[in-house]
Amino acid sequence: MPVDFTLPPDVEEVRLRVRKFMDAEVRPAEEKLENNGADRGEYVRTIVGLREKAKAEGLWNPHLPPEWDGMGLGPTAMAFVSAEAGRTGIGPFVINAQAPDEGNMPTLLHWATPEQKEQYLRPLAEGRARSCFAMTEPEVAGSDPTLIQTKAVKDGDDWVVNGHKWFISGAKGANFAILIACTDENADPPQARNSAFLVDLPVEGWEVVRDIDTMAGRGNHCEIRITDLRVADDKMLGGRGEGHLLGQYRLGPARLAHCMRWIGNAEVALEMLMDRALTRFAHGSLLADKQAIHLQDREQAPLSPGGLDGQVPRRQHPLAHRRPRHPGPRRARLLHRHAAGAHDAPRPLRPPRRRRRRSPPPDHRPQHGRDLQRAREHKTGDGRPAVEDHPLW
Ligand SMILES: Cc1cc2nc3c(=O)[nH]c(=O)nc-3n(C[C@H](O)[C@H](O)[C@H](O)COP(=O)(O)OP(=O)(O)OC[C@H]3O[C@@H](n4cnc5c(N)ncnc54)[C@H](O)[C@@H]3O)c2cc1C
Repeated sequence: MPVDFTLPPDVEEVRLRVRKFMDAEVRPAEEKLENNGADRGEYVRTIVGLREKAKAEGLWNPHLPPEWDGMGLGPTAMAFVSAEAGRTGIGPFVINAQAPDEGNMPTLLHWATPEQKEQYLRPLAEGRARSCFAMTEPEVAGSDPTLIQTKAVKDGDDWVVNGHKWFISGAKGANFAILIACTDENADPPQARNSAFLVDLPVEGWEVVRDIDTMAGRGNHCEIRITDLRVADDKMLGGRGEGHLLGQYRLGPARLAHCMRWIGNAEVALEMLMDRALTRFAHGSLLADKQAIHLQDREQAPLSPGGLDGQVPRRQHPLAHRRPRHPGPRRARLLHRHAAGAHDAPRPLRPPRRRRRRSPPPDHRPQHGRDLQRAREHKTGDGRPAVEDHPLW
């Protein structure tokens, strides 16, 4: 049975309003910034100016309720607003829905005391502050926060925190962090080991070690060393032992928004691919008419129901009647080959920045299944899965 992807009318209405605003105001401003090689200050000034326009259009804080000057959207509308904003680079900042603040705001709304809301949520909701969320650690698997090693120990009216975090987005320049630390290492269930704390930044004991290189270069995803950091008891966010629950509450919607922003970005690349294939002429016909291109690119259907502006019904477009198999930006880059080999290609087509080649450290070398099995046998002696608490190497 076919799945009906039609959006409810209220969701479609808000999606189209965001699309129109991004097309009319944000994209032209962004193109101007890019063409002029603008510096960070110019970006900030442009975003601040566009924010006033977004507020006037009622496109501000889509993730917050009206009493916090928000649009009061549910998860479906939020997903499509994120996708529309993600069709530009600065769009999420313009509507104050940029990661990680967009995830931290509803978290504070749900978990903070009235005093904490005034001190931490208010400036975020007004676009006057930035924040970060510090949970993942290099020594243990981020997907299992029961393993967190950062410890908070009660000392009088304070907690003393020691630990190590990494990939903490937005850490440089953040006014505060929501920090997850282990307060009760023997708690049962293990999900009750962690608590969350509000940490004003910058502060002694919180060191930004470096901005970690990712596939997209450096983007303020930082390594943090925490040494004898003192946090007052009234800065605990939520109850003692509720850090895991709070993380779950935060990460669901925040991950959805992340994914939808990338879908918005990939949609733009697909549209460029379609446009290129349907206008570029070579060897007697359009690229779209070449058999190989036709076969490959028709597998790239619009990624979201709102994709391709709803103008091209999925079953009618020659290039768009099957589920996507390759990432849109990659195929779009191939079709724009001459333009996209360089980093001055249009933003959605830009290849990941090349990184300096160097040998990986011995303990991070990629392993094939056979090597994994061998390592496992070496550890356990009999080939049983080496689960428990032991890393394989
Ligand atoms: C750009 C970027 C920004 C980030 N920002 C933040 C941030 O702001 N704050 C923060 O706290 N963290 C942040 N993170 C960290 C992110 O949350 C972690 O990378 C994520 O939780 C995964 O943890 P890990 O990297 O330790 O991988 P691991 O948990 O070690 O997982 C390694 C691999 O194993 C797979 N895996 C894990 N469990 C299973 C299973 N049960 N079955 C099969 N496969 C499994 C995973 O999918 C993954 O491929 C960021 C990461 C990146 C890359």
